[in-house]
Amino acid sequence: MIKFLDLQKINEQYQQELKEAVGRVIDSGWYLLGKELQNFEQNLSQYIGVKHAIGVANGLDALRLIFKAYIEMGVMQVGDEVIVPANTYIASILAISDNRLNPVLVEPNIETYNLDISLIERCITPRTKAIMVVHLYGQICWSDELELLAKKYNLKIIEDNAQAIGANLPQPPAKAGQAFPRREEKNSEGVTQSHTLTKKTGALGDAAGFSFYPGKNLGALGDAGAVTTNDDLLADTVRALGNYGSKQKYVNEYKGLNSRLDELQAAILNVKLKYIDVENQRRRESAAYYCEHIKNEKITLPVDNHRLTTYDLRLDSSHVWHLFVIRCDERERLQQFLMDNGVQTLIHYPIPPHKQTAYKELNDLSFPITEKIHSEVLSLPMSPVMSDKEIERVVEVINSFN
Ligand SMILES: *Cc1c(COP(=O)(O)O)cnc(C)c1O
Repeated sequence: MIKFLDLQKINEQYQQELKEAVGRVIDSGWYLLGKELQNFEQNLSQYIGVKHAIGVANGLDALRLIFKAYIEMGVMQVGDEVIVPANTYIASILAISDNRLNPVLVEPNIETYNLDISLIERCITPRTKAIMVVHLYGQICWSDELELLAKKYNLKIIEDNAQAIGANLPQPPAKAGQAFPRREEKNSEGVTQSHTLTKKTGALGDAAGFSFYPGKNLGALGDAGAVTTNDDLLADTVRALGNYGSKQKYVNEYKGLNSRLDELQAAILNVKLKYIDVENQRRRESAAYYCEHIKNEKITLPVDNHRLTTYDLRLDSSHVWHLFVIRCDERERLQQFLMDNGVQTLIHYPIPPHKQTAYKELNDLSFPITEKIHSEVLSLPMSPVMSDKEIERVVEVINSFN
């Protein structure tokens, strides 16, 4: 069977280095808030191109802590509104409501599945304090119009970057055969690392939340997350809030949480961060192959035909293909057909947040585009370790669906 995602195979690539890293932590006798975390925070902030990276326990906490910090800073108050895509994983919205802020859901664009930026302005009220963008499925959600809106209404932009580590703002049209421009920097081990030169997701807004859940593009071997920002005060506040609200041991400035990225996970992430660009590129190549070879009228691809003929997807660094999501109005039959033919798929996501029992207060709202997406999407196998044979087989099975 072709697995949706083979985590064992992904981590096996770095087995030696990972075992060394874990051994080093075990032997050190120091398991929280130590050197490994410091190194990871330095490496991540360098990679993303921001002043601060703060390791936290998971992606949901990263987002929760950003809002909690803004409340402590007096930038937001309980009852304020945050604009957020209706089409997202529920964690984006939980981070808002958990802080007793009000999520204001906005429909996505049916081509990108990302927040439709043209619909934001009509949803802004005097209580609106922020816009959360989610780079869903690994595709950047950003535009000049978004930046202008934030400026005009004095809104913070928070990025949910759980699915898109390594994605870049679109550059001038990528030409065939042209590599991304790069910059070189020394990492925490003193080794020179080369990073793409354009601005990355996680460095675009006022703050960003990352998830290193094992199945994400940069996956730990357990839960982990991070906040990135260029705002010194926000960084300090998030760091304190994730550590009981304390900047100095046993002195508590805020009513904080315990949300820390432990040394074991940090050591593992230090190993895997070095390979993220290579892995993302491998995903791009698989996505390009899918797009170029899936030919079935019943299937909608995640890239429109125009883009397919004018861009080389392999050179489009605005997408890191966390998920390769197709649409089909006979989704259940397609999923069964793929399963019967040895191809495992998943649905991201089957129930929209506003239809969840957890959000009874939103159940009566109607978001037709979001609901259509949730009823039609199917995620094909996608990972940096799929063989060419496997990708070809997935295409073959899909093309034979009728
Ligand atoms: C995974 C994910 C999160 C939450 O991250 P965890 O580490 O699982 O808490 C938040 N937002 C989005 C879009 C995600 O995909």
